[in-house]
Amino acid sequence: SVATRDVHLAFGANQVLRGIDLHVDAGTTACVIGPSGSGKSTLLRVVNRLIEPDRGDVLLGGRSVLTDDPDRLRQRVGMVFQHFNLFPHKTVLANVTLGLTHLKGLSKGDAEAHALRHLERVGLEHKAGVRPGRLSGGQQQRVAIARALAMEPEVMLFDEATSALDPELVKGVLATMAQLASEGMTMLVVTHEMGFARSVAQQVLFMDEGRVVESGEPGRVFEAPESERLQRFLSQVL
Ligand code: ATP
Ligand code: MG
Repeated sequence: SVATRDVHLAFGANQVLRGIDLHVDAGTTACVIGPSGSGKSTLLRVVNRLIEPDRGDVLLGGRSVLTDDPDRLRQRVGMVFQHFNLFPHKTVLANVTLGLTHLKGLSKGDAEAHALRHLERVGLEHKAGVRPGRLSGGQQQRVAIARALAMEPEVMLFDEATSALDPELVKGVLATMAQLASEGMTMLVVTHEMGFARSVAQQVLFMDEGRVVESGEPGRVFEAPESERLQRFLSQVL
């Protein structure tokens, strides 16, 4: 499971997170939706310890991780960004093996065998030898997913993983994410894809101005939003 308790964070005078409580059960998917600037990316960055909160706690498997070594934590939490951040001059295979040799200490041979298995999971083992620039955006994003999965994280975080893709490439990446969810990965997904949230997530959290304004089962949240702010947000995006 992954959880936060009363997480607060300010950038200078800008109070960006104002007491975020969330809990994602192991093996389930939660989607975070909300307007631009509401703090969604910042929240994921706090969970992954790319930023330290001013107050509050982050828990993995029920245990606080804020005093753990951030590098070790990042092996337990995989993150996929809007822009895939692959190394352009390295092959697909080398992109996936890098963390395995450097962080996990695998030998080159073991790392490559392991990386190939994860590339196979996203259907791209046949692209192992090419550079990312030869792949479509959707394929590059699936490589980024394989790279995160190869570290065998307990939780996967996705920050608008499909927002930078051409519309025809979005489906393949969402299908890969849905497959991961169905295999029992614990996932916290920031997305504008309401169809994905509705069909894959067990829980939807609506953020506005640094708070979780409303959360619940996707059916309830989308069919019967309680707060005026969520009603307004959904009327704009659906
Ligand atoms: P979007 O949907 O546009 O991605 P978001 O919900 O992910 O928005 P965040 O990126 O978390 O929003 O930003 C929340 C607020 O924090 C914004 O006001 C933003 O300007 C501010 N912010 C984010 N990162 C930083 C930073 N590194 N330094 C200063 N301010 C920041
Ligand atoms: Mg964002």
